[in-house]
Amino acid sequence: MPRAHHNNSMNMKTPHKSMTILVINSGSSSIKYRLLELPQGRVLADGLLERIGEPASRIIHRATDDSDSFVDIKQAVAAADHHKAFKAVFEVLGEDCPVDAIGHRVVHGGDRFAGPTLIDNEVITSIRALCQIAPLHNPVNLLGIESCLSHFPGVPQVAVFDTAFHQTMPPHAYRYAIPEAWYSDYGIRRFGFHGTSHHYVARRAAEFIDKPFNTSRLITLHLGNGASATAIANGCSVDTSMGFTPLEGLVMGTRSGDLDPAIPLFIEQAGYLNNTGIDHALNKESGLKGLCGTNDLRAVLELNQAGDERAQLALDLYCYRIKKYIGAYYAALGEVDALVFTGGVGENSAQVRRVACEGLSRFGITIDEAANDKVIEDITEIGQAESQTRILVIKTDEELQIARETMTVLDKDHD
Ligand code: ADP
Repeated sequence: MPRAHHNNSMNMKTPHKSMTILVINSGSSSIKYRLLELPQGRVLADGLLERIGEPASRIIHRATDDSDSFVDIKQAVAAADHHKAFKAVFEVLGEDCPVDAIGHRVVHGGDRFAGPTLIDNEVITSIRALCQIAPLHNPVNLLGIESCLSHFPGVPQVAVFDTAFHQTMPPHAYRYAIPEAWYSDYGIRRFGFHGTSHHYVARRAAEFIDKPFNTSRLITLHLGNGASATAIANGCSVDTSMGFTPLEGLVMGTRSGDLDPAIPLFIEQAGYLNNTGIDHALNKESGLKGLCGTNDLRAVLELNQAGDERAQLALDLYCYRIKKYIGAYYAALGEVDALVFTGGVGENSAQVRRVACEGLSRFGITIDEAANDKVIEDITEIGQAESQTRILVIKTDEELQIARETMTVLDKDHD
Protein backbone atom coordinates (compact mmCIF):
# COMPACT_ATOMS: atom_id res chain seq x y z
CA MET A 1 0.00 0.00 0.00
CA PRO A 2 1.41 3.45 -0.85
CA ARG A 3 2.54 5.48 2.13
CA ALA A 4 1.38 9.04 2.20
CA HIS A 5 3.97 11.77 2.24
CA HIS A 6 3.87 13.61 5.55
CA ASN A 7 2.95 17.22 5.15
CA ASN A 8 4.58 18.79 8.16
CA SER A 9 2.61 21.97 7.65
CA MET A 10 2.09 22.53 11.34
CA ASN A 11 5.51 24.08 11.63
CA MET A 12 3.72 27.36 11.37
CA LYS A 13 5.46 30.18 9.61
CA THR A 14 4.68 33.81 10.19
CA PRO A 15 1.59 34.46 8.10
CA HIS A 16 1.79 37.13 5.44
CA LYS A 17 -1.40 39.00 6.27
CA SER A 18 -4.56 38.77 8.27
CA MET A 19 -7.22 36.49 6.79
CA THR A 20 -10.85 35.70 7.47
CA ILE A 21 -11.42 31.97 7.56
CA LEU A 22 -14.70 30.11 7.70
CA VAL A 23 -14.45 26.72 9.42
CA ILE A 24 -17.10 24.14 8.60
CA ASN A 25 -17.72 20.96 10.58
CA SER A 26 -20.54 19.20 8.77
CA GLY A 27 -21.90 16.23 10.74
CA SER A 28 -24.69 13.76 10.11
CA SER A 29 -27.38 15.81 11.85
CA SER A 30 -25.70 19.14 12.55
CA ILE A 31 -23.41 21.80 11.09
CA LYS A 32 -20.96 23.64 13.33
CA TYR A 33 -19.26 26.71 11.88
CA ARG A 34 -16.97 29.50 12.96
CA LEU A 35 -15.83 32.63 11.16
CA LEU A 36 -12.53 33.87 12.50
CA GLU A 37 -9.74 36.24 11.76
CA LEU A 38 -6.20 34.87 11.78
CA PRO A 39 -3.52 35.10 12.95
CA GLN A 40 -5.25 36.95 15.82
CA GLY A 41 -7.78 34.14 16.33
CA ARG A 42 -10.58 36.70 16.79
CA VAL A 43 -14.00 35.07 16.43
CA LEU A 44 -16.33 37.11 14.20
CA ALA A 45 -19.26 34.68 14.29
CA ASP A 46 -20.02 31.10 15.14
CA GLY A 47 -22.96 28.81 15.37
CA LEU A 48 -24.61 25.44 15.30
CA LEU A 49 -27.42 24.30 13.09
CA GLU A 50 -28.85 21.16 14.63
CA ARG A 51 -31.48 18.49 14.05
CA ILE A 52 -31.10 18.46 10.26
CA GLY A 53 -33.92 16.43 8.75
CA GLU A 54 -36.19 16.88 11.79
CA PRO A 55 -39.15 19.27 11.99
CA ALA A 56 -37.53 20.98 15.00
CA SER A 57 -34.29 21.97 13.24
CA ARG A 58 -32.86 25.25 14.52
CA ILE A 59 -29.84 27.44 14.32
CA ILE A 60 -28.01 29.05 17.21
CA HIS A 61 -25.83 31.81 15.80
CA ARG A 62 -23.61 34.39 17.48
CA ALA A 63 -21.94 37.35 15.84
CA THR A 64 -19.73 40.09 17.26
CA ASP A 65 -21.03 43.63 17.02
CA ASP A 66 -18.93 46.77 16.59
CA SER A 67 -17.91 46.76 20.24
CA ASP A 68 -16.77 43.12 19.96
CA SER A 69 -19.49 41.70 22.18
CA PHE A 70 -21.52 38.73 21.02
CA VAL A 71 -25.11 39.11 19.86
CA ASP A 72 -27.09 35.86 19.94
CA ILE A 73 -29.66 34.74 17.43
CA LYS A 74 -31.65 31.59 18.04
CA GLN A 75 -34.19 30.71 15.39
CA ALA A 76 -36.07 27.83 13.89
CA VAL A 77 -35.01 27.06 10.32
CA ALA A 78 -36.36 24.73 7.68
CA ALA A 79 -33.47 22.31 7.25
CA ALA A 80 -34.98 19.18 5.76
CA ASP A 81 -31.59 18.19 4.33
CA HIS A 82 -27.97 19.37 4.28
CA HIS A 83 -28.46 21.57 1.18
CA LYS A 84 -31.21 23.51 2.91
CA ALA A 85 -29.22 23.58 6.13
CA PHE A 86 -26.20 25.13 4.40
CA LYS A 87 -28.48 27.67 2.69
CA ALA A 88 -29.69 28.72 6.15
CA VAL A 89 -26.11 28.99 7.47
CA PHE A 90 -25.03 31.17 4.52
CA GLU A 91 -28.11 33.35 5.01
CA VAL A 92 -27.40 33.96 8.66
CA LEU A 93 -23.74 34.72 7.88
CA GLY A 94 -24.96 37.38 5.43
CA GLU A 95 -24.44 38.09 1.75
CA ASP A 96 -21.46 40.34 2.39
CA CYS A 97 -19.70 37.83 4.64
CA PRO A 98 -15.95 38.37 4.05
CA VAL A 99 -14.36 34.96 3.49
CA ASP A 100 -10.77 34.56 2.29
CA ALA A 101 -10.65 30.80 2.73
CA ILE A 102 -12.69 27.90 4.04
CA GLY A 103 -11.41 25.04 6.19
CA HIS A 104 -13.43 21.81 6.30
CA ARG A 105 -13.22 19.09 8.88
CA VAL A 106 -13.06 15.79 6.98
CA VAL A 107 -13.18 12.69 9.14
CA HIS A 108 -11.39 10.12 6.98
CA GLY A 109 -8.32 10.80 4.89
CA GLY A 110 -7.25 7.15 4.70
CA ASP A 111 -3.53 6.77 4.06
CA ARG A 112 -3.74 9.22 1.19
CA PHE A 113 -3.78 12.42 3.29
CA ALA A 114 -1.14 13.09 5.92
CA GLY A 115 -1.80 16.80 6.33
CA PRO A 116 -4.18 19.63 5.45
CA THR A 117 -4.84 19.70 1.70
CA LEU A 118 -6.07 22.31 -0.78
CA ILE A 119 -9.29 20.97 -2.27
CA ASP A 120 -9.51 20.33 -6.02
CA ASN A 121 -11.47 17.82 -8.09
CA GLU A 122 -8.95 15.09 -7.51
CA VAL A 123 -9.05 15.59 -3.74
CA ILE A 124 -12.87 15.48 -3.86
CA THR A 125 -12.70 12.18 -5.75
CA SER A 126 -10.36 10.75 -3.11
CA ILE A 127 -12.58 11.89 -0.23
CA ARG A 128 -15.54 10.31 -2.06
CA ALA A 129 -13.66 7.04 -2.50
CA LEU A 130 -13.13 6.97 1.28
CA CYS A 131 -16.91 7.11 1.90
CA GLN A 132 -16.89 3.32 1.80
CA ILE A 133 -14.84 3.14 5.02
CA ALA A 134 -16.43 6.23 6.61
CA PRO A 135 -20.06 6.03 5.48
CA LEU A 136 -21.42 8.11 8.37
CA HIS A 137 -18.97 10.98 8.02
CA ASN A 138 -17.28 11.52 4.66
CA PRO A 139 -20.54 11.88 2.65
CA VAL A 140 -21.79 14.72 4.89
CA ASN A 141 -18.31 16.31 4.93
CA LEU A 142 -18.46 16.27 1.12
CA LEU A 143 -21.88 17.91 1.13
CA GLY A 144 -20.32 20.76 3.10
CA ILE A 145 -17.47 21.10 0.60
CA GLU A 146 -19.86 21.09 -2.38
CA SER A 147 -22.25 23.61 -0.82
CA CYS A 148 -19.36 25.98 -0.05
CA LEU A 149 -17.86 25.55 -3.54
CA SER A 150 -21.09 26.68 -5.13
CA HIS A 151 -21.83 29.47 -2.63
CA PHE A 152 -18.27 30.86 -2.51
CA PRO A 153 -16.93 30.26 -6.02
CA GLY A 154 -13.23 30.97 -6.30
CA VAL A 155 -12.61 30.96 -2.54
CA PRO A 156 -9.84 28.47 -1.71
CA GLN A 157 -10.96 25.53 0.42
CA VAL A 158 -8.84 23.22 2.51
CA ALA A 159 -9.63 19.78 3.93
CA VAL A 160 -8.30 19.04 7.42
CA PHE A 161 -8.50 15.33 8.19
CA ASP A 162 -9.15 13.71 11.60
CA THR A 163 -6.87 10.87 10.56
CA ALA A 164 -3.91 12.94 9.26
CA PHE A 165 -2.00 13.45 12.52
CA HIS A 166 -1.83 9.67 13.02
CA GLN A 167 -0.22 8.96 9.65
CA THR A 168 3.18 8.98 11.39
CA MET A 169 2.41 5.74 13.28
CA PRO A 170 4.92 2.98 12.57
CA PRO A 171 3.66 -0.26 10.96
CA HIS A 172 3.88 -2.20 14.24
CA ALA A 173 1.24 0.21 15.62
CA TYR A 174 -0.99 0.61 12.58
CA ARG A 175 -1.02 -2.98 11.28
CA TYR A 176 -3.24 -5.69 12.76
CA ALA A 177 -2.07 -9.28 13.10
CA ILE A 178 -4.50 -10.56 10.46
CA PRO A 179 -3.99 -12.22 7.05
CA GLU A 180 -1.87 -9.91 4.93
CA ALA A 181 -4.43 -9.88 2.11
CA TRP A 182 -6.91 -8.07 4.39
CA TYR A 183 -4.43 -5.24 4.47
CA SER A 184 -3.21 -5.34 0.87
CA ASP A 185 -6.62 -5.99 -0.75
CA TYR A 186 -8.98 -4.18 1.61
CA GLY A 187 -6.74 -1.65 3.35
CA ILE A 188 -7.56 -2.90 6.85
CA ARG A 189 -5.25 -1.05 9.24
CA ARG A 190 -5.41 1.34 12.18
CA PHE A 191 -6.06 4.92 11.08
CA GLY A 192 -6.98 6.67 14.33
CA PHE A 193 -9.25 9.70 14.65
CA HIS A 194 -9.61 12.93 16.71
CA GLY A 195 -6.19 13.85 15.24
CA THR A 196 -6.95 17.56 15.04
CA SER A 197 -7.73 17.67 18.76
CA HIS A 198 -4.78 15.49 19.82
CA HIS A 199 -2.46 17.66 17.72
CA TYR A 200 -3.85 20.92 19.10
CA VAL A 201 -3.59 19.97 22.79
CA ALA A 202 -0.21 18.31 22.29
CA ARG A 203 1.28 21.50 20.86
CA ARG A 204 -0.21 23.58 23.65
CA ALA A 205 1.12 21.13 26.24
CA ALA A 206 4.65 21.32 24.81
CA GLU A 207 4.49 25.13 24.84
CA PHE A 208 3.21 25.08 28.42
CA ILE A 209 5.96 22.81 29.73
CA ASP A 210 8.42 24.80 27.68
CA LYS A 211 9.77 21.94 25.61
CA PRO A 212 10.18 21.89 21.82
CA PHE A 213 7.25 20.00 20.32
CA ASN A 214 9.56 17.84 18.23
CA THR A 215 11.27 16.44 21.32
CA SER A 216 8.13 16.07 23.47
CA ARG A 217 6.73 12.76 24.69
CA LEU A 218 3.08 13.00 25.56
CA ILE A 219 -0.03 10.96 26.22
CA THR A 220 -3.15 12.85 25.17
CA LEU A 221 -6.62 11.70 26.24
CA HIS A 222 -9.53 13.12 24.25
CA LEU A 223 -12.58 12.16 26.31
CA GLY A 224 -15.80 13.42 24.75
CA ASN A 225 -18.77 11.45 23.49
CA GLY A 226 -16.22 9.63 21.38
CA ALA A 227 -12.95 9.03 23.23
CA SER A 228 -9.40 8.19 22.26
CA ALA A 229 -5.87 8.10 23.65
CA THR A 230 -2.73 8.95 21.68
CA ALA A 231 0.95 8.34 22.36
CA ILE A 232 3.15 11.09 20.94
CA ALA A 233 6.93 10.80 20.60
CA ASN A 234 9.02 13.68 19.26
CA GLY A 235 5.87 15.54 18.23
CA CYS A 236 4.51 12.62 16.17
CA SER A 237 1.63 10.28 16.87
CA VAL A 238 3.15 6.82 17.36
CA ASP A 239 0.02 5.00 18.51
CA THR A 240 -3.63 5.74 19.08
CA SER A 241 -6.55 3.80 20.51
CA MET A 242 -9.13 4.21 17.74
CA GLY A 243 -8.50 1.87 14.86
CA PHE A 244 -9.81 1.09 11.39
CA THR A 245 -12.98 2.82 12.61
CA PRO A 246 -13.68 4.96 15.69
CA LEU A 247 -15.11 1.89 17.48
CA GLU A 248 -11.87 0.57 18.96
CA GLY A 249 -10.18 1.57 22.20
CA LEU A 250 -11.62 3.43 25.17
CA VAL A 251 -15.16 3.00 26.49
CA MET A 252 -17.23 5.82 24.93
CA GLY A 253 -20.70 7.33 25.27
CA THR A 254 -22.35 4.73 23.05
CA ARG A 255 -19.41 2.75 21.58
CA SER A 256 -17.98 -0.36 23.17
CA GLY A 257 -14.30 0.31 22.56
CA ASP A 258 -12.04 -2.78 22.70
CA LEU A 259 -13.68 -6.18 22.66
CA ASP A 260 -12.91 -9.74 21.63
CA PRO A 261 -13.61 -9.87 17.85
CA ALA A 262 -15.19 -13.30 18.36
CA ILE A 263 -18.09 -11.72 20.27
CA PRO A 264 -19.91 -10.24 17.23
CA LEU A 265 -19.39 -13.54 15.38
CA PHE A 266 -20.95 -15.42 18.28
CA ILE A 267 -23.93 -13.05 18.47
CA GLU A 268 -24.53 -13.44 14.74
CA GLN A 269 -24.17 -17.22 14.80
CA ALA A 270 -26.53 -17.42 17.76
CA GLY A 271 -29.10 -15.66 15.55
CA TYR A 272 -29.57 -12.85 18.06
CA LEU A 273 -28.59 -10.00 15.70
CA ASN A 274 -27.58 -9.69 12.06
CA ASN A 275 -24.69 -7.63 10.73
CA THR A 276 -26.59 -4.33 10.71
CA GLY A 277 -27.98 -4.98 14.17
CA ILE A 278 -24.52 -5.70 15.57
CA ASP A 279 -23.12 -2.56 13.95
CA HIS A 280 -25.88 -0.51 15.57
CA ALA A 281 -25.51 -2.22 18.96
CA LEU A 282 -21.73 -1.70 19.16
CA ASN A 283 -21.78 1.90 17.90
CA LYS A 284 -25.02 3.26 19.35
CA GLU A 285 -26.14 1.05 22.23
CA SER A 286 -22.89 0.14 23.95
CA GLY A 287 -20.33 2.05 26.01
CA LEU A 288 -21.73 3.97 29.00
CA LYS A 289 -25.21 3.68 27.52
CA GLY A 290 -24.99 -0.09 27.23
CA LEU A 291 -23.78 -0.41 30.80
CA CYS A 292 -26.15 1.95 32.59
CA GLY A 293 -28.68 3.39 30.14
CA THR A 294 -27.22 6.84 29.44
CA ASN A 295 -24.33 8.03 27.29
CA ASP A 296 -24.03 11.38 29.06
CA LEU A 297 -21.27 11.23 31.64
CA ARG A 298 -22.89 13.94 33.76
CA ALA A 299 -26.01 11.78 34.05
CA VAL A 300 -23.86 8.73 34.89
CA LEU A 301 -22.20 10.71 37.70
CA GLU A 302 -25.59 11.78 39.04
CA LEU A 303 -26.91 8.21 38.98
CA ASN A 304 -23.76 7.10 40.74
CA GLN A 305 -24.22 9.76 43.42
CA ALA A 306 -27.74 8.44 43.95
CA GLY A 307 -26.30 4.98 44.60
CA ASP A 308 -27.05 3.33 41.23
CA GLU A 309 -24.87 0.21 40.96
CA ARG A 310 -24.95 0.03 37.15
CA ALA A 311 -23.65 3.59 36.99
CA GLN A 312 -20.87 2.65 39.43
CA LEU A 313 -19.84 -0.25 37.20
CA ALA A 314 -20.00 1.98 34.09
CA LEU A 315 -17.70 4.53 35.73
CA ASP A 316 -15.32 1.87 37.01
CA LEU A 317 -15.04 0.29 33.58
CA TYR A 318 -14.69 3.67 31.84
CA CYS A 319 -11.85 4.83 34.12
CA TYR A 320 -10.13 1.43 34.25
CA ARG A 321 -9.90 1.35 30.45
CA ILE A 322 -8.33 4.84 30.44
CA LYS A 323 -5.81 3.71 33.05
CA LYS A 324 -4.89 0.63 30.97
CA TYR A 325 -4.16 2.86 27.97
CA ILE A 326 -2.07 5.25 30.08
CA GLY A 327 -0.03 2.25 31.19
CA ALA A 328 0.28 0.84 27.69
CA TYR A 329 1.36 4.14 26.18
CA TYR A 330 3.74 4.79 29.04
CA ALA A 331 5.41 1.51 28.13
CA ALA A 332 5.38 2.41 24.43
CA LEU A 333 7.01 5.80 25.05
CA GLY A 334 9.48 4.84 27.81
CA GLU A 335 9.13 8.22 29.48
CA VAL A 336 6.37 10.78 29.38
CA ASP A 337 6.74 14.54 29.78
CA ALA A 338 3.03 15.23 30.16
CA LEU A 339 -0.33 13.50 30.35
CA VAL A 340 -3.10 15.65 28.89
CA PHE A 341 -6.85 15.47 29.50
CA THR A 342 -9.22 17.13 27.02
CA GLY A 343 -12.77 16.85 25.53
CA GLY A 344 -16.05 17.40 27.42
CA VAL A 345 -15.28 14.72 30.03
CA GLY A 346 -11.51 15.26 30.20
CA GLU A 347 -11.93 19.01 30.69
CA ASN A 348 -14.79 18.84 33.18
CA SER A 349 -14.77 15.67 35.26
CA ALA A 350 -12.37 15.83 38.20
CA GLN A 351 -13.66 12.42 39.28
CA VAL A 352 -12.76 10.68 36.00
CA ARG A 353 -9.31 12.28 36.00
CA ARG A 354 -8.72 11.28 39.63
CA VAL A 355 -9.87 7.68 39.28
CA ALA A 356 -8.03 7.16 35.97
CA CYS A 357 -4.75 8.31 37.57
CA GLU A 358 -5.18 6.49 40.89
CA GLY A 359 -2.28 4.20 41.78
CA LEU A 360 0.02 5.53 39.05
CA SER A 361 2.48 7.38 41.28
CA ARG A 362 5.12 4.73 40.54
CA PHE A 363 4.84 5.89 36.93
CA GLY A 364 5.53 9.43 38.09
CA ILE A 365 1.85 10.37 37.72
CA THR A 366 0.41 11.98 40.88
CA ILE A 367 -2.62 14.23 40.86
CA ASP A 368 -2.91 17.27 43.12
CA GLU A 369 -6.47 16.87 44.42
CA ALA A 370 -7.06 20.57 45.09
CA ALA A 371 -5.85 21.66 41.65
CA ASN A 372 -7.84 18.85 40.03
CA ASP A 373 -11.03 20.02 41.70
CA LYS A 374 -10.54 23.61 40.57
CA VAL A 375 -9.92 23.48 36.82
CA ILE A 376 -11.00 26.74 35.20
CA GLU A 377 -8.32 27.92 32.84
CA ASP A 378 -7.68 27.05 29.18
CA ILE A 379 -4.69 25.14 30.53
CA THR A 380 -4.52 23.96 34.12
CA GLU A 381 -1.76 21.92 35.72
CA ILE A 382 -3.21 19.27 38.04
CA GLY A 383 -0.12 17.20 38.87
CA GLN A 384 1.65 17.47 42.22
CA ALA A 385 4.90 19.43 42.16
CA GLU A 386 6.88 16.16 42.52
CA SER A 387 4.90 14.38 39.78
CA GLN A 388 7.58 13.48 37.23
CA THR A 389 5.04 13.44 34.47
CA ARG A 390 3.23 16.78 34.29
CA ILE A 391 -0.55 16.37 34.26
CA LEU A 392 -2.50 18.97 32.32
CA VAL A 393 -6.11 19.74 31.50
CA ILE A 394 -6.32 21.62 28.21
CA LYS A 395 -9.44 22.93 26.51
CA THR A 396 -9.42 21.65 22.97
CA ASP A 397 -10.25 23.95 20.05
CA GLU A 398 -10.60 21.97 16.83
CA GLU A 399 -12.05 24.93 14.91
CA LEU A 400 -9.05 27.14 15.69
CA GLN A 401 -6.69 24.33 14.72
CA ILE A 402 -8.55 23.79 11.41
CA ALA A 403 -8.39 27.54 10.68
CA ARG A 404 -4.65 27.61 11.41
CA GLU A 405 -3.95 24.58 9.25
CA THR A 406 -6.04 26.13 6.46
CA MET A 407 -3.97 29.29 6.65
CA THR A 408 -0.69 27.38 6.57
CA VAL A 409 -1.70 25.58 3.38
CA LEU A 410 -2.58 28.86 1.68
CA ASP A 411 0.57 30.52 2.93
CA LYS A 412 2.58 27.70 1.41
CA ASP A 413 0.62 27.99 -1.80
CA HIS A 414 1.54 31.66 -2.10
CA ASP A 415 5.28 31.15 -1.53
P1 ADP B 1 -18.47 15.47 21.52
O1 ADP B 1 -17.59 14.27 21.42
O2 ADP B 1 -19.86 15.22 21.07
O3 ADP B 1 -17.84 16.75 21.00
P2 ADP B 1 -17.97 16.63 24.12
O4 ADP B 1 -16.50 16.76 23.96
O5 ADP B 1 -18.77 17.88 24.22
O6 ADP B 1 -18.64 15.67 23.08
O7 ADP B 1 -18.21 15.77 25.46
C1 ADP B 1 -19.47 15.36 25.84
C2 ADP B 1 -19.35 14.62 27.15
O8 ADP B 1 -18.79 15.51 28.13
C3 ADP B 1 -20.70 14.17 27.69
O9 ADP B 1 -20.60 12.84 28.16
C4 ADP B 1 -20.93 15.11 28.85
O10 ADP B 1 -21.70 14.53 29.88
C5 ADP B 1 -19.51 15.36 29.33
N1 ADP B 1 -19.46 16.57 30.15
C6 ADP B 1 -19.71 17.83 29.79
N2 ADP B 1 -19.63 18.66 30.87
C7 ADP B 1 -19.36 17.88 31.94
C8 ADP B 1 -19.16 18.10 33.33
N3 ADP B 1 -19.24 19.33 33.85
N4 ADP B 1 -18.86 17.05 34.11
C9 ADP B 1 -18.79 15.82 33.61
N5 ADP B 1 -18.96 15.52 32.31
C10 ADP B 1 -19.24 16.53 31.48
